[in-house]
Amino acid sequence: MPAIQTSEPVSDLFVIGGGINGCGIARDASGRGLSVVLAEMDDLAQATSSSSTKLFHGGLRYLEYFEFRLVREALIERETLLRAMPHISWPMRFVLPYHPSMRFESDTPTSKLLGTVMPWMKGRRPAWLIRLGLFMYDNLGGRKILPGTRTVDLRADPAGVPLNAEFETAYEYSDCWVEDSRLVVLNARDAEARGAKIMTRTRVLHAAREGDLWAVEVEDRETGARRTHRAKMLVNAGGPWVGKLLKGAIDVETREGVRLVRGSHIVTKRLYDHDKCYFFQGTDGRIIFAIPYETDFTLIGTTDADHPDPSTPAECTPEEQEYLCRFASRYFERDVTREDIVWTYSGVRPLYDDGASSATAATRDYTLKVHAEGGAPVLNVFGGKITTYRRLAESAMEKIAPYFETERERWTAGVPLPGGDFPVDGVEALIEGLETAYPFLDRRWARRLVRAYGTEARAILGTAKTAQDLGRDFGATLTEAEVAWLVEKEYARSADDVLWRRSKLGLRLTEDQAAALEDWMQGEGAARHG
Ligand SMILES: Cc1cc2nc3c(=O)[nH]c(=O)nc-3n(C[C@H](O)[C@H](O)[C@H](O)COP(=O)(O)OP(=O)(O)OC[C@H]3O[C@@H](n4cnc5c(N)ncnc54)[C@H](O)[C@@H]3O)c2cc1C
Repeated sequence: MPAIQTSEPVSDLFVIGGGINGCGIARDASGRGLSVVLAEMDDLAQATSSSSTKLFHGGLRYLEYFEFRLVREALIERETLLRAMPHISWPMRFVLPYHPSMRFESDTPTSKLLGTVMPWMKGRRPAWLIRLGLFMYDNLGGRKILPGTRTVDLRADPAGVPLNAEFETAYEYSDCWVEDSRLVVLNARDAEARGAKIMTRTRVLHAAREGDLWAVEVEDRETGARRTHRAKMLVNAGGPWVGKLLKGAIDVETREGVRLVRGSHIVTKRLYDHDKCYFFQGTDGRIIFAIPYETDFTLIGTTDADHPDPSTPAECTPEEQEYLCRFASRYFERDVTREDIVWTYSGVRPLYDDGASSATAATRDYTLKVHAEGGAPVLNVFGGKITTYRRLAESAMEKIAPYFETERERWTAGVPLPGGDFPVDGVEALIEGLETAYPFLDRRWARRLVRAYGTEARAILGTAKTAQDLGRDFGATLTEAEVAWLVEKEYARSADDVLWRRSKLGLRLTEDQAAALEDWMQGEGAARHG
């Protein structure tokens, strides 16, 4: 049956991509009074923005690449973001074990410099260098909330218990955790609340200039219906597809390129009992993290491997699994093996192609390019980190503003995301309040709801007096009331959206339970979103 072609009103911005960068720009622009339409071909955060290590971090290792601007911006940003979303983000301590005999193969600018001025240092990352890096980390970024660095005696500290006995000393520093895919959804919701139109399961097929406008042809992937949207400016925030969009779907001449670097994680049963993370240095010059994850698990990652094409699904290969297990086993007293793995995930970093020789060395900084020759302007977004998404959106607005009359200045710092309107140290009080108001919740359930929805948890629970009042129980404390909220307010359309991006309950539901949820989503759930 031929697709029906209809037309939509003209908007100021048309954003391609519902990852963190597209949604962050949509939110910022809507708050400045621009009319915004955003199209995401799958679910929000379906691609890279749900596959990160989930850290708001300065990026300690980028100091070795002299990426001071990026590190400083990211360090300052951690606390701004933490204040705006104290439900989905929280501080974490990172323990970096050190041993004087450690040797590294590394071609970072720092190691090259050391090798030249102090040839006897070749292949080493001496303790003073790590301390210098941590001193900069403590002081570059206006730290107010997060505690600073300290030296740890691993022979006496609980952090030493799960580690190989050869490690006696470590350095401990702060960064923040963030639920990456929830961050994306909350930005999309806030954008919508400020007037944006958010379309998921909507693929951009083609965008062509019509004088001062862009004509953007989209396809609804559920119905096959096609529409043409017109907009004064196009924003290409297609992440790993940014280059492909430029070469195919968008009519524009450009030589900018993107370098696709895959990163994989493994999730194991919980490997240790305390709540701190580890920062392990590898002999290959790389680093990995081991992070307490979803209470009962440990997250280990990541790898760096060139990835051929965005349409090739990113998967954690057996070799990557083996590499991460071996890497972690060098530090943990017990061996980490593939039998410990309960889940893996993998994502593709859309890095600006700066000609770096290795995937590890390619810049993590972002680059924004506007093309306005030949008609209506297009802004292309390359690179960037979850941590810098809000600053990236502000920089994008600086590039966008000259084309529009918008009075409003930067506004997103200090404005909470949905559910985040409470103090940074207010989570425990919120959990206790929820338990008092809803005595049928146990501590774990209440904590999960507060960590996901913050002050909005009460809106989901409503007037419920018993767990049965929340409707069907899908397993692992996931109820019909919560799923209905995710469908009606948070764009969830499938069981995977609920289990792997709005939550991580996929780690706990059985296959049968997940299948029952999918049935509900396609029946009752579909009716709820019309
Ligand atoms: C392994 C790994 C670990 C990382 N860890 C961290 C970390 O700990 N901290 C940190 O700050 N950063 C981290 N990052 C970086 C961060 O995850 C990314 O920079 C960020 O998620 C990129 O977001 P994005 O919006 O540009 O891309 P994406 O999230 O990929 O979004 C792009 C979207 O565009 C959509 N799209 C593409 N083509 C079309 C089309 N034709 N029509 C409609 N939609 C389309 C895609 O479906 C996709 O959802 C990590 C990255 C990786 C891979």
